[in-house]
Amino acid sequence: MRIVVLSPHRDDAALALGLTIGAWLEQGHAVEVMNVFSRTEQAPFSDVDSLHGNDRVSFATAVRKREDESWVKLYQGLPGRGRVTLSELNLKDAPLRLHCGVDEVFREPEPTEKVVLKIKRALEQSRAAVLVLPLGVGGHVDHLTVRQLALPADMNVTPVAFYEDQPYSALEPAKVEVAVQEGALAAGAPLQAWFAAEPPADMAAAIKRKRRMALCYDSQYEDATADTIAEYSAQYEGRERLWTNAAWRATSFVR
Ligand SMILES: [Zn+2]
Repeated sequence: MRIVVLSPHRDDAALALGLTIGAWLEQGHAVEVMNVFSRTEQAPFSDVDSLHGNDRVSFATAVRKREDESWVKLYQGLPGRGRVTLSELNLKDAPLRLHCGVDEVFREPEPTEKVVLKIKRALEQSRAAVLVLPLGVGGHVDHLTVRQLALPADMNVTPVAFYEDQPYSALEPAKVEVAVQEGALAAGAPLQAWFAAEPPADMAAAIKRKRRMALCYDSQYEDATADTIAEYSAQYEGRERLWTNAAWRATSFVR
């Protein structure tokens, strides 16, 4: 099965789905992580602020690409025949695109024609059998834009799953239920919780693995945030929860 995961930024797929993607690879699926708003100058825990303004975007964009690549390397040597690939749409993230501060990115999407066209075209070319989208927990405009534009028109036919965005879900779990309701409204169908695999025998090892994944993105977070994100998966017995439509649950993809 060809699974396309839409990641608004480089880190969203890893932080929300790192263990799930591991399970899919073990099951032999091909996973494409499509990084949408990958042009950025956000790398607060790097040297970006010491650079001249003109150099910040290329620096931060490159740093974050390397972080993403180091995450994918963690899957090497694991059992399973599946492959994960990274792609990027190279769109500007919210602060660059909307000329706003990082505290002003929580707003309703008003995507430009360029953003709409680029995401739609990439989805057509991806030949995705199933789509995995952000639920939009936390209300970051880039996450909401991806959810809005990537939602298939035929929700009755196309299998779609939504993931619990991080670090928002871990830092403010109360927002998850709200996002599930909003996601269901956007999808026009009720969503049901779903897991890619049975709980692992060694939950502590799974949480440790998740922490290593989160630590790949050290230009974005302090170690304590990586801990919080990793520990969030403990309530799901060392897994990550997805929210799925009926078409998803009707595919042979479901265990
Ligand atoms: Zn994000």
